[in-house]
Amino acid sequence: MPLYRCQMCGGEVIRKHDGLYMCLYCGSMQSFDFDFVGNGQSNVSAPTTEEEIYVGAQRLRASAKASNDYTTAAKQFQLIIGYKDASTLMSQCFQKAEELRIEETYEEACGLMNENNIHFMQQAAELFDTIPNFRDSVFKRAECREFVNRQQQTIIRKNAILQREMEDAEKKQKLLAAAVIGAIVLLVLIFTAIKNIH
Ligand SMILES: [Zn+2]
Repeated sequence: MPLYRCQMCGGEVIRKHDGLYMCLYCGSMQSFDFDFVGNGQSNVSAPTTEEEIYVGAQRLRASAKASNDYTTAAKQFQLIIGYKDASTLMSQCFQKAEELRIEETYEEACGLMNENNIHFMQQAAELFDTIPNFRDSVFKRAECREFVNRQQQTIIRKNAILQREMEDAEKKQKLLAAAVIGAIVLLVLIFTAIKNIH
């Protein structure tokens, strides 16, 4: 049904009343140039009613699974506050969206932890930071930070060892060069001595 996309967020746009269109996602009102938009005008000849928005939002709410789905439904109810129980349903959807967002954040952080990698652990710690009151987030966050610290220490140690090895190799090379030069000088001296004897 929607023929247009919101210029702000890309959400579905419906016809509100003459000349004005409303984004179902962010609620922004926009006017569209019919000549520019072109075909399909007949589909938007009837303005979308509050009941249509209400029914659409109910449908979204019924099929919602993720946090974002509930946010979308909530924003549609928000567009028709005052109509039927839209206000109550909006609050419920926003609340459910927030609950799910926290759970999703927790799951994502746990997933990152399983990677056992310093970079992911750092990201996981930052995610746990945003949901300190949820389940064992505080402990998990500490676990991540500890892992990161340990890894950082290991890296520092490894770098120090590498640095020392490089320095040793350089020293050995210098010694070798000195020995070669010494040997050449010695040979030259010996040859000169032999030549002088003859
Ligand atoms: Zn929008």
